[in-house]
Amino acid sequence: MMEADGGASVPDMLIRDGKRQSVFRSYVVPYMDRPNLTVLPHALVTQLTIEHKRTTGVQISYDGSVRRIRAGCEVILSLGAIHTPKVLMQSGVGDEVESNHFGIPVIQHLPGVGLGFQDHLGVCCLWDASGSLPSRPAPEAIIFWKSKTGLGSPDFQILPAVLSAGDAARLGLPAGGWALLGIVVQPKSRGRIRLTGSDPADPVQIEANCLCDPDDREAVSACVELCREIGNSGDLRPFVKREIIPGNLKPPELANYIRDGAFSFWHQTSTARMGRHEMCVVDADLKVYGVDNVRIADGSIMPRVTTGNTMAPCVIIGERAAEILRIEHKF
Ligand SMILES: Cc1cc2nc3c(=O)[nH]c(=O)nc-3n(C[C@H](O)[C@H](O)[C@H](O)COP(=O)(O)OP(=O)(O)OC[C@H]3O[C@@H](n4cnc5c(N)ncnc54)[C@H](O)[C@@H]3O)c2cc1C
Repeated sequence: MMEADGGASVPDMLIRDGKRQSVFRSYVVPYMDRPNLTVLPHALVTQLTIEHKRTTGVQISYDGSVRRIRAGCEVILSLGAIHTPKVLMQSGVGDEVESNHFGIPVIQHLPGVGLGFQDHLGVCCLWDASGSLPSRPAPEAIIFWKSKTGLGSPDFQILPAVLSAGDAARLGLPAGGWALLGIVVQPKSRGRIRLTGSDPADPVQIEANCLCDPDDREAVSACVELCREIGNSGDLRPFVKREIIPGNLKPPELANYIRDGAFSFWHQTSTARMGRHEMCVVDADLKVYGVDNVRIADGSIMPRVTTGNTMAPCVIIGERAAEILRIEHKF
């Protein structure tokens, strides 16, 4: 569906005993008793330690003190698309102008660190239900569709959701509503992650730049139109008391609705991209350019965000990293 013409189906979900499973629970928890695995909760990695352009370990803030952990073999950064570039930049691996601006000694000028940020952006169409609807742990249907003919693969996704009583109260909406969430899945817009200071406690600035590309605005408008067509269709009439938002808006009101109501679908990627051009950060073996002994294995290495949701692709990146390490170090 994601790579061809699109369609609708039951989504693939990792659910056991009615509960969604996390990657940590599936991959790490079964091996927690191994002597060669230490999981240190609440440890904050603040910096890579680098000597003569060779990564020797990490500096962490843990239990009120700063400590250094030396790498037996090499360091794999896996902090996600927001914090991997932050730690790189705070270690002096990033754009030299930005490093100089914050007084961070430049170890390696890599202007692509933090650049290329992408996310899947969502908008919500909401209906008041005519009766009470059962709440579900996860969506039970998924649609991938194209905003126009001529596209090679779908550029938006639609998911149904039932509004919980708590959410309805928090948002000032009638209890018992249901939604169709429309999500742009092949965004062209790109943003960046920037430092706001050299201290690990300084937050990053996320310049998401979502919807800056007109094709993304077109895709999200087409997506809202299809959501409304489905939600207001005769087949769903038994479940609809009335449409709450957005209603039959025309441009520019529709564009304003989208701009005001758009939200992140939490699929941030592409801030330390794999590739060969000057804005890339890692090579095909996940190694950071210009600094030895450090790789990245998380969503930040994606050249562009995937069409589908990002958890499974991140797992594949982790699997591939494990395969590379096993071969290279003969584990
Ligand atoms: C609320 C939510 C719902 C989602 N739902 C779905 C879904 O239904 N389907 C789907 O496919 N995807 C979903 N995603 C997206 C998916 O979870 C992510 O794309 C994926 O987890 C990204 O993997 P990652 O390895 O890049 O980073 P992460 O999974 O974010 O892992 C990074 C880890 O590093 C830790 N970390 C960060 N900085 C530091 C530091 N300085 N020191 C120490 N540790 C640090 C973080 O705490 C985190 O545990 C969802 C995301 C969110 C937030």
